[in-house]
Amino acid sequence: MQEIREYVTIKKEQIKAYVGTLTLKPKLVIVQVNEDKASCAYVNGKLKDLNEIGAIGELIKLDTSITQEELLNVIKGLNEDETVDGFIVQMPLPSQIDEEIIKRSVDPIKDVDGFNPLSTYLSATSKGILTYLEDNNFEFSGKNAVILGRSNIVGRPMHDILLNKNMNVTILHSKTSEEDRKFYIEHASLIVVAIGKKYYLDNRYNYRDDCVVMDVGINRDIDNHLYGDCIPTLNVKFQSPVPRGVGLLTRLSLTLNLIECYKRRHNL
Ligand code: NAD
Repeated sequence: MQEIREYVTIKKEQIKAYVGTLTLKPKLVIVQVNEDKASCAYVNGKLKDLNEIGAIGELIKLDTSITQEELLNVIKGLNEDETVDGFIVQMPLPSQIDEEIIKRSVDPIKDVDGFNPLSTYLSATSKGILTYLEDNNFEFSGKNAVILGRSNIVGRPMHDILLNKNMNVTILHSKTSEEDRKFYIEHASLIVVAIGKKYYLDNRYNYRDDCVVMDVGINRDIDNHLYGDCIPTLNVKFQSPVPRGVGLLTRLSLTLNLIECYKRRHNL
């Protein structure tokens, strides 16, 4: 498997070359309604990516006291704005706002995050993992995949994507017994870990020789460093690092989704 940072750099160069051929540049708007430190870092990373591929990135920062109706109006404006190819509403949102209603209000055509259940795009994290595995010739068909975590933004979409690749997919969650967890994990050729617990997965299991682990977790400890859901030294064929692993793949898919969106809107 190719090193993720190197893989992402090459893919971004290819996207940049494509954007270079376009007279009208793709435009993505990010709506941020929080002062969250981690969110600010994600937003800056996304804007940097857009700049690097030659697309237009715009940040709309809104006051955290905004009402749901006011935010829905901003989203309506972006849905209707012909100059905007895609946009995302950065999570989390303030407590007075219902995240599910907001996710569903984004026009599925412009929903490059893939958060709206009707979105025409795969959710960015799952798409990033899928594209990376495909490009590295991972053999999906007939193999066992285990996903730890069943959230709507990672675990569940990942389940459907891997099932569509003809894998035997099992989702494990907080109520799975340790005996079952051991059984499924030790039979898996692919493990996607998305639970948000530092170093949860370690070498207490006997992994298969061909096992590939994609670590989605991003856990900030009191030392302010980022840690994955897995220890960095699993006895597996390959594991994605944290940081500079799935996070980079997620950002990459956002740019890929934006290009897909642009092509559809301009009938290319
Ligand atoms: P979440 O809190 O919504 O979901 C966590 C899931 O883990 C829940 O379904 C819960 O049932 C399950 N879980 C808890 N303990 C478990 C256990 N012992 N075994 C199996 N399942 C268990 O979290 P999320 O939004 O899916 O995010 C998960 C992690 O991934 C977080 O650290 C988050 O920061 C990170 N994340 C990273 C990216 C990225 O781009 N790298 C994207 C999204 C989320």
